This record gives sequence, C-alpha cells and structure tokens, in this order.
Amino acid sequence: MRNIKNLKADNPDLWDPEVSTASREKIRALQLKNLRQTLKHCYENNVFYKNRIDEAGFDPDKVSDLSDIEKLPFTTKEDLRVNYPFGLFCTPLNQVIRVHSSSGTTGNPTVVGYTKEDLEIWAQVLARIMYDVGVRKEDIVQVSHGFGLFTGGFGFQYAAEKIGAMVIPVSGGNTERQLKIMNDFKSTVLCCTPSYTLFMAEVADRIGIDFSRLELKLGFLGAEPWSEPMRNEIEKRLCIKALNSYGLSEVIGPGVSCECLVQDGLHLNEDHFLAEIIDPDTGKNLPPGEKGEIVFTTLTKKAFPVIRYRTKDISYLYKNECSCGKTFMKMSRPMGRTDDMLIIRGVNVFPSQIEEVLMNIKDLEPHYLIVLSKENYLDKIEVWVEVSENIFQEKLMDLEFFEKSIENRLYSAIGIHINVSLKEPKTIARSEGKAQRVWDRRQEKN
Ligand code: ADP
Ligand code: ZN
Repeated sequence: MRNIKNLKADNPDLWDPEVSTASREKIRALQLKNLRQTLKHCYENNVFYKNRIDEAGFDPDKVSDLSDIEKLPFTTKEDLRVNYPFGLFCTPLNQVIRVHSSSGTTGNPTVVGYTKEDLEIWAQVLARIMYDVGVRKEDIVQVSHGFGLFTGGFGFQYAAEKIGAMVIPVSGGNTERQLKIMNDFKSTVLCCTPSYTLFMAEVADRIGIDFSRLELKLGFLGAEPWSEPMRNEIEKRLCIKALNSYGLSEVIGPGVSCECLVQDGLHLNEDHFLAEIIDPDTGKNLPPGEKGEIVFTTLTKKAFPVIRYRTKDISYLYKNECSCGKTFMKMSRPMGRTDDMLIIRGVNVFPSQIEEVLMNIKDLEPHYLIVLSKENYLDKIEVWVEVSENIFQEKLMDLEFFEKSIENRLYSAIGIHINVSLKEPKTIARSEGKAQRVWDRRQEKN
C-alpha cells in the first residue's frame, strides 16, 4: 500500500503531510485553537448562538480543552428550520457569496451560506481527499451529482478544478448521454451516488458500452448509505475502485470525510471539522468504537459555522491508525439516519442492514424497495427485490422457494421475519440521485 508520506509533492498546495499526517497532539492542538476562534465568532456575531452559549453558562474565552465542548448544547435541524432562511448566518449577508440548501430528504430544506473563504476551504478539503488517493491534473473528472442547491455537484467541481483536472459538470440524469461522454471524453474519475452507478451499469449493458474498455478507474460515491456488498457489485460492474465519500450541507457539503485506498473507514478532515459520537437517546458522548449519532462542530467556516450539529447519521469513530499514513481519525461508513431507522416489532432495523443481506445473495439484482404497510393495525414490512434475468426465465417455478430462503437469511441476520417479494428484472424504480429505499404506505387507506 502506498503511504501518503511518500507521495510526490507535485502540488504543494494540496499535499500537506504536516497536517494530515501530524501527531494526535498536534491535530488536537490545532482543533482547540480553531474551536476557540469559532466559538468566539459565533458568540459575537449571532444572537441565537450567543443566547445558547449564555444559557449554558459557558464562557467562550475559557475553552482549555476540546472536551469543554461537551458542556455546550446541540444545534439541531429544527434550530435551522426555526431560523430559516438566514438566522444562523454569522457574517453580514453582504459577505455571503453563495447559498446552498439540503435536499430536504427528511423535511423542509435548510439553508446554508458561504463566504469567499468558506468556498475556498470547501474546495481545499475535498481536493485534498481526491489528491491523496491519486487524482491529478491529468485526470478527467465526471461530476454526475446534481448541480444547483444540492452541494454534491459544485463541491466536486471546485475540488477537481483546484487539482487542475479537467472537469465535466454533466450533472445527474440523461444516462445515455452520461455514458457517451464517459466513453468519448475518456473520463477517469466519477462522482455521484452509488445507486446511480448501478443504473449507469444497466444502461451501459443495454447500449453496448463495456466498462472494462473505458478509462474510468475511480469513483467518489456518497450522499446516501450503501453497503460493502454494494461496493463489490459496483467495483465489479464498473471496473473501478469505489470510495465512500460523506458530507452534508450543514457542515460544508462533500469533503467532510472520505475513504482512502485502504477502503476501511472514512478519514475526517479533522483540521476543519470536529466530530463527536453521542448516544442519540441520552445525548451523552460515546468513546471511539461505539456506535451512535455523529455530531459536528465546524472549526474554520465563517458564514455558516455549526456548533455541535446533530446529523442524525449513525456511525462510530475508529480507534486505530490507518496504514495509508494519514493520521486523521476515521469514521465508519454511515449506516443510515436515526429517522430512517425502522422499528419493526420492537427491533431496530436500518435499510442498509437489509441491503447487506440481499446483496450477498447470488441471483438477486442490486435493486430493492422496503415497503411498509398496515395489516390489522399492525405494521407489516415487505422487501421487493429484483431477480436476475436468467433465473427469472429459468426458474419461474422455484421462485417461491427462493423467496423463503431469502426470508430465512434475513431472519438469521436481523432477527425478524420480513416478507420477500421477488420482482421481475427492471421493475423497481432506478435513481439518478439519492435512492429512495423505503416506501411507507402505512397512512394509505385500504
Ligand atoms: P439531506 O439529504 O439531509 O436533505 P444533504 O443533501 O446535505 O441533505 O445530504 C446529507 C446527508 O446525506 C447526510 O446527513 C447523510 O444522511 C447522507 N449521506 C451523505 N453521504 C453519505 C454516505 N457516504 N453514506 C451514507 N449517507 C450519506
Ligand atoms: Zn487511510
């Protein structure tokens, strides 16, 4: 495995081993310095934060240790909504040169803002991630995330530009054109959601584009939860190395964390973002290795800093160092959001756990939908999943038996009975952005 310390520094601006391979003490000292500045900045420039900090009896001038932050209250999505649109901005609006908005997956959108320097930080943090895994100015980066209020498109655009690569801002959708461009322009790097890559693979098969003959070698995939078997499927079908990239607009957008080539955990950009893991029920901090809700405090942003922002994403922090040489702490792949969690007969289930089981079963396609309904006032959970073309035609008679065997696999992995309904190939809706994995029909009248 290549160690990032040995990377050739052909771009000194992006290769910063003094920071990204620094000792824990050095990283923590830098975080503390920036935390002090951020708390002061929020306190002095925003009424909401000032009141919150005062109510907590906290003196932003007296932060002596990173753990002092645990004395501060959380900021929630609800706080953002109540202060819609610009109430949590911490600079005058004339210094804000850009706004973005979360995609509203779970409710009203929330609005975030950037100064010129904030946009520069965004480019820098994501460019560093890409640079460290080998993206160079010779690369051709196809950005198939949406451009617009969603942060995905612009984030990768800036980062790739900063590296000096050629960027193709093709945005999401129009999959045949995407593939033609990928083929004709010889794209080497792809940025989009994992579910969209599988849709691309399917369209490529149909129109006769063979990924093994393309130049594409690396994917930065994220914006939605995905599982390890899903990664294997993507790597096999697109003939790329697929890295998990995580971010959220409230923190900055893509660039909060990403996997290195070791593909085991996502390195946090710790000099800009301070991560904590808390128990979502009690709000208490959890040590590395324990799973809980990830909470972020930004350390350098000016227009829209956040203090202890509750992401609702479930993850844990790694204890060990990484063999790539980077010393930034790693977080586990986010397995879902607390509000995506299904509680079925008392058992907590994330869609990604169901995905993991399904994707390990031969003859199933990576397209599924979890359908929730009511039967005699009780919640009912069913999974629709597509079977591969060959088995559908050959084994029509055996499908019922196959369904039962999948139900057994789900039962032994998750501990509850989930009805499985096998579907014909290409009947479940495909996604060009964030996939919708759950269809909740519990409110529907029968
Ligand atoms: P939202 O989807 O909340 O409207 P964003 O567009 O900012 O807002 O998306 C950020 C959210 O997307 C994260 O909080 C997380 O739930 C999800 N997400 C982003 N990247 C990943 C990833 N790599 N794995 C799992 N979930 C992710
Ligand atoms: Zn690493």
